[in-house]
Amino acid sequence: RAKEKNPNAYEWSTPSMSADALERHAIEQELRKAGARNEFVLHYQPQVNLGSGEVVGIEALLRWDHPTRGMVSPAEFIPLAEETGLIVGIGEWVLRTACRQNKEWQLAGYQPVRMAVNLSVSQFMQDNIVEIVSGILEETGLEPRYLELEITESVAMRNADKVSVKLEKLKNLGLQISIDDFGTGYSSLSYLQQFPINRLKIDRSFVNKVTQSEDDAVIASSIIAMAQSLKLEVIAEGVETAEQFDFLRRRACTEMQGYFFSRPLPAGEIVELLRCTEEAEQAAIV
Ligand code: C2E
Ligand code: MG
Ligand code: MG
Ligand code: MG
Repeated sequence: RAKEKNPNAYEWSTPSMSADALERHAIEQELRKAGARNEFVLHYQPQVNLGSGEVVGIEALLRWDHPTRGMVSPAEFIPLAEETGLIVGIGEWVLRTACRQNKEWQLAGYQPVRMAVNLSVSQFMQDNIVEIVSGILEETGLEPRYLELEITESVAMRNADKVSVKLEKLKNLGLQISIDDFGTGYSSLSYLQQFPINRLKIDRSFVNKVTQSEDDAVIASSIIAMAQSLKLEVIAEGVETAEQFDFLRRRACTEMQGYFFSRPLPAGEIVELLRCTEEAEQAAIV
């Protein structure tokens, strides 16, 4: 055997990692260092209220500005970050950065908006998530009502009783809670009513085909109607066209988010979409 002739040959006779596994391993190693290397950035996407026509919220969306791979989308690394537990540290950075940014905009004189931050499953499941969130609010000075946590329907349905207690504690901090990607999971109405949530986000897969697929039109309309009867706010995500906008507006969906209004933008660009408070405008004139 090769090993008898050459003691180092052993390494060569182990089954080689597949190209996929190697790539994954490489990305994991880089992901571990990305935070310290300041490679994470947040982009921000506006949420528009149709009543006032103004930006009332902003969703913080994570990007990995990789030195050779370019801007990596969260769809490509969040699952890995989740599996490796790295998401906990990354998620905390997101929360802190988004809260700090929102506070900075307020101090700069922009009309206050909610900042929506996505919470992953393992982040939400952390025993001390309530302390982490309240610590960050304190540290950044952001009033809790200007923070919204987005959890997905699948998180909410995991262990409904436990989740309910945790949501109650988070809600008691004074922040807002929304259910992201709503319609893709299996939440029962009774849980929805039991959870202390503010808002349902209609998943963009329905919004996307709302004017083409009768099924999706029915689903979207039902979610809006259901939210109204449960006295929840509702927002449609992924609104791309004037037709989708019209459809949703006619069904009294009051808030929307999507490329039709704006893509997610770097902090410096999104402020142009925010309104200055009157005091700030006056201060600028004086
Ligand atoms: P999500 O929370 O449902 O975010 C909405 C996604 O839809 C974003 O993708 C956004 O860029 C995209 N989007 C918004 N409007 C439109 C539209 O009109 N058309 C289309 N085609 N897409 C639109 P993105 O930024 O790639 O994020 C993907 C997912 O990654 C997010 O889905 C969220 O689940 C996750 N994610 C992003 N940032 C974070 C984070 O900081 N923490 C965690 N745990 N997850 C995150
Ligand atoms: Mg989201
Ligand atoms: Mg979503
Ligand atoms: Mg989604």
